[in-house]
Amino acid sequence: MYSPVGVKTSPDFPIPDKMKAWVLGNPGELKLTEKPVPVPKRAEVLVRIDAVAICATDLEIIDHGPPSSIQGGMPFNKNFTPGHEYMGTVVALGPGVDEYKIGQRITVEIHAGCGQCRRCREGMYTSCHNYGLNYGDVDKGHRANGFTTDGGFCEYQVNNINTLVAIPDAMSDEEATLVVTAGTAMYGLTELGGLVAGESVVVTGPGPIGLLGVAVAKALGAQPVILTGTRDNRLRIGKELGADYVVNVRNENAVEAVKKLNGGKGVDYVVECSGAPNAVNEAIRMVNRGGKVCLAAFPHAETPVDVAHIVRNNIYLYGIRGEGKSATHRAEAFMSQKRFDATKIHTHTFPLDDLPTAIRYAKERIEDAIKVVVKAKGVAAHRVAAE
Ligand SMILES: [Zn+2]
Ligand SMILES: [Zn+2]
Repeated sequence: MYSPVGVKTSPDFPIPDKMKAWVLGNPGELKLTEKPVPVPKRAEVLVRIDAVAICATDLEIIDHGPPSSIQGGMPFNKNFTPGHEYMGTVVALGPGVDEYKIGQRITVEIHAGCGQCRRCREGMYTSCHNYGLNYGDVDKGHRANGFTTDGGFCEYQVNNINTLVAIPDAMSDEEATLVVTAGTAMYGLTELGGLVAGESVVVTGPGPIGLLGVAVAKALGAQPVILTGTRDNRLRIGKELGADYVVNVRNENAVEAVKKLNGGKGVDYVVECSGAPNAVNEAIRMVNRGGKVCLAAFPHAETPVDVAHIVRNNIYLYGIRGEGKSATHRAEAFMSQKRFDATKIHTHTFPLDDLPTAIRYAKERIEDAIKVVVKAKGVAAHRVAAE
């Protein structure tokens, strides 16, 4: 039985020595194996993973590698378990941990910074200067589970207590996996200045972050909130989550449409979540002079940008990585107060053993899949009614 020295466990939550874990082989190849249940160190807990959502970044990592970095390089054939948008139950406490209790339900944010670099001290732990430095003789204490350390496509994982977010009993497992997605949107709006009540916001790209970006902007009081994209079914969900207007960029010019909807003027903020090749040049033309643009998507290729337009018009560009400055806690507060219904973007659930099927649904958007969740226990595959 699992009983590492210095680790507190409880008979109410018996822990096996071994667990099921998916590992990444060659690009695109996942294998179900067994691994020892990991052991929490100081300031860490062991989480029993109850649900994990699949993110577009997981698909990137599984097929191409970056932004994952394992042992200083590509993540292939290193016994690495991907997956990062998970939630679960605290089942063991590492030495010195009294901030959480065994049995407590939590969701996680991804990045545990090293805590000792300058950026971590500023709350910018997603920009930790010791990113990925936790291999060989080096252990800077940095973890980004599913990116630089083992992630959530398995039954148990260790997490630094600073990455845990307590959730209420009323929040379902599936909804809890979406807290970090809303947290990324919240971080973007925080970095843009945060006080967006009464100011105008465009969100470009109705993926999960974009859709919850609409919800968070509206909950913060933005007016109007405009969502642009190419798929009508996604735009419709954006309206349900609070968009005042939606623009299908296949039917009209996005920049002109945005200006028209905001009384002929550009908007105050754009949150760019599409990663489209022309997205930055469009975003800088959607904002008014002195406006701010947050870049939250990873585009595939380098793209030329009209710098002269940015300079002439005093436009600010912000790149954001993940969900820093405890934005996840603020997102959870909105969700537990039911300020918006994030479950509108959850479409499918599969058992953990069926991860390859779940990934296929997410990748090929089968049955209009948006957020696909896998659960370790007691789940038959089902589609959530999208109504
Ligand atoms: Zn993600
Ligand atoms: Zn750091």
